[in-house]
Amino acid sequence: MQKKIIAPGYMHDFQCLGGDCEDTCCQKWDINLDKKHYDLLAEKVISNPDDKELFDKYTCLHDESASSGNNYAYIKLNESGYCPFLNTAGLCHLHDHYGVEPLSDVCAFFPRVLSEYDSSTELTGALSCPEVVRLCLFDDSDLYAMTKISPAVLPREEYPVSRKIDAPEDGYQKHFTEVREQMILLMADNDYAFETRLYFLANFSSRLASHYHYGCETTKSVAEEIKRFQNKDVKNQLDDYFFKFSNTEPVAVIVIQAILQLRIQHEGNDKLSQLAARILENYKVDYERSEDFDVYGENIPPELLSKSFLQHWDKLNSRYGAVLEEYLARYVINCLQREWFISMPDPFVYIHMLTIRVAVLRFLITSHPEIIEMVNSDISFEDSINHFNEKIVEIVYLYARSIDHNHTFLHVVFQAIREQQMMSFDYSMAFIKL
Ligand code: SF4
Repeated sequence: MQKKIIAPGYMHDFQCLGGDCEDTCCQKWDINLDKKHYDLLAEKVISNPDDKELFDKYTCLHDESASSGNNYAYIKLNESGYCPFLNTAGLCHLHDHYGVEPLSDVCAFFPRVLSEYDSSTELTGALSCPEVVRLCLFDDSDLYAMTKISPAVLPREEYPVSRKIDAPEDGYQKHFTEVREQMILLMADNDYAFETRLYFLANFSSRLASHYHYGCETTKSVAEEIKRFQNKDVKNQLDDYFFKFSNTEPVAVIVIQAILQLRIQHEGNDKLSQLAARILENYKVDYERSEDFDVYGENIPPELLSKSFLQHWDKLNSRYGAVLEEYLARYVINCLQREWFISMPDPFVYIHMLTIRVAVLRFLITSHPEIIEMVNSDISFEDSINHFNEKIVEIVYLYARSIDHNHTFLHVVFQAIREQQMMSFDYSMAFIKL
């Protein structure tokens, strides 16, 4: 029996922009082909010698050790880093000529992510697509609740499933949807500031983690903790505590700077690394011009980097704070819906890593040269909001392409945080109160 498909409001209307996209996804990434569609495509291109030549030149089989049904072959990018089948109008030539049927799952379905839990299939959108970012952050439709959609909105009937739980194996999987729902409700509660909501998430997940984790049996503390966080008095107490807490340690900027430097070292040519390098360089130039330069010498001391960042943040916050809160909350909810925290050993580890990702993203937005220029100018909120939104879309999709969806890179960050013994609630506050 076909499962019902549910999706947040913004994915009900998603359409790929094709040739009108500002930054096609058919570039820079490895494009994997599953065996079924590789065979179908190989059969189709026989009828056209030019296509056959391109197919033979650019499609390669994975080594036997790395080969599987889903990752059977891949398309090599051309010398300019683009998919060789992208035509001059920015459209997929193979799609144009042979329809969606022989396309690989990745090509046919990106940026859709499909996950199955019990009798439902959840459709969410990857933020590495700028159009998904626009819909997810700015669309008025309901982001929080997933509602039923017609299977006809999918590119083809048979769809790839990124993750799946048919019958929960342990208490961790069994309570997954109710815990995730509570996390989403906490993040959606706009009676509180965005930072407080992140603090709620860290607190909630940290309290849960001692009983509720990978391999645990059914645990009644889950229901108790959910109930606790539904109580307004508890939330108000936490809110109060959170605002009284003052973070004076620059630990977050040390970690953020290290993550960005690592990214630049790994992949200096990608657009996010170039932006990060520009941002760090600008901070350095500012610092070199300051009177502190003589005192401290070459490297920016973390206290001063933190101070400069906060100056930019205060200005940004006073003009765009309210809209940015909403965008960041929507970003977090997209992550909660799409990524499934049970891929991590316990809910706190997931939320802590997400908090660090939010801190890096907030640093990039606040320090973006064009955003700094905007907040330093006399231009009004109304006259600049469209430009501000364009910059947000650009930063978020580049960030998702280079960091959020780069599992290898995230794993390196995860290991480093663990080795530095920073995977604890004590450090959450530093990243939330960046
Ligand atoms: S990034 Fe999104 S909108 Fe752009 S070409 Fe890819 S799927 Fe289409």
